[in-house]
Amino acid sequence: MTIREFLMRRNGQYSRETVAFLLASGTLLTIGTRSFVVKFVCAVVIVVVTVAAFGSLFQIPCPKCRKSLGFVGFKVANSGMGSNNTVPVPAHCPHCNVSFDEPMP
Ligand SMILES: [Zn+2]
Repeated sequence: MTIREFLMRRNGQYSRETVAFLLASGTLLTIGTRSFVVKFVCAVVIVVVTVAAFGSLFQIPCPKCRKSLGFVGFKVANSGMGSNNTVPVPAHCPHCNVSFDEPMP
């Protein structure tokens, strides 16, 4: 498995977990309670978890130098989605310059 595949796999895992969480919490909110306060607290928790899950994609560490890849990691992790290709997908770690097409160390 290359570093690129590792990053993309990790992104897919986060996406699935976030969607599962949103579905579960949405169902709980709909059928669970009529209290406005509880619904409000749940909504805040949902937003916080979603933002945290999204933000964690910017915190993926480089497997070689362990420094956070930041936006580079996010861009590489999402490169398999076939989204916009206006920004070129980086091919190297910005810290140690390891190629993302090298096998995982
Ligand atoms: Zn690195």
